[in-house]
Amino acid sequence: DFDRGYFVGAFRRMAATAEEHRDEWTKLDGDIGDGDHGINMSIGFREVVKQLDALPDDTDVAGLFKLVGMTLLRKVGGASGPLYGSFFMKAGAEVAGQSEVSFDDLRRMLRAGVDSIQQRGKAELGDKTMLDSYLPGLDVLEAADAADPQAALTAFVDRMRQGSDDTIPLVAKKGRAMRLGERSVGHRDPGSQSSWMLMNCLLDELK
Ligand code: ADP
Ligand code: MG
Ligand code: MG
Repeated sequence: DFDRGYFVGAFRRMAATAEEHRDEWTKLDGDIGDGDHGINMSIGFREVVKQLDALPDDTDVAGLFKLVGMTLLRKVGGASGPLYGSFFMKAGAEVAGQSEVSFDDLRRMLRAGVDSIQQRGKAELGDKTMLDSYLPGLDVLEAADAADPQAALTAFVDRMRQGSDDTIPLVAKKGRAMRLGERSVGHRDPGSQSSWMLMNCLLDELK
């Protein structure tokens, strides 16, 4: 099962990933946005690590996700802060009061998180945003065999990565890149890249 320790480990991996890929994500955002996506995520996850280092003993999974979500909401400037913030907050709210979550719970959490990204950002599949990796990835995750969470998460992350690749030929319809119109073609959406890499941490922590 997925307990608090599992998720703390996964969030620490996410923080390390944000650090490791900061310049890459920033460069992607420099091509079609304002060149701060990696910086934004790094600032947010550095604060997440501080919060994890001082995590109260009685924090359950829902409380942990709420803390991470609120930290990102508070610390990350730009579009991605509120979107990632509400993703984690809504995901956690799905399992309020539970100390452990099943794999089916985890799938519900991720679906609730992605729904909230969509509600907040009003983007659709194909708008060249992080939803282009999340939405097809979640469909694969939900169709996967729950008896093998590792295989299911592998398929989820692989599909998210493919979804990110698929943003390259798209015209941006949301976010800052929208202003470039046709000139956004030929560039990967930075949020689609960070989102599959962050979700990959759920897989790595399981291995
Ligand atoms: P900003 O664009 O405000 O500087 P970031 O650079 O941190 O914020 O994040 C940009 C990313 O946010 C984009 O690559 C895209 O994936 C995501 N994004 C922007 N607007 C939306 C939206 N309306 N819905 C979903 N994702 C969005
Ligand atoms: Mg930006
Ligand atoms: Mg910005």
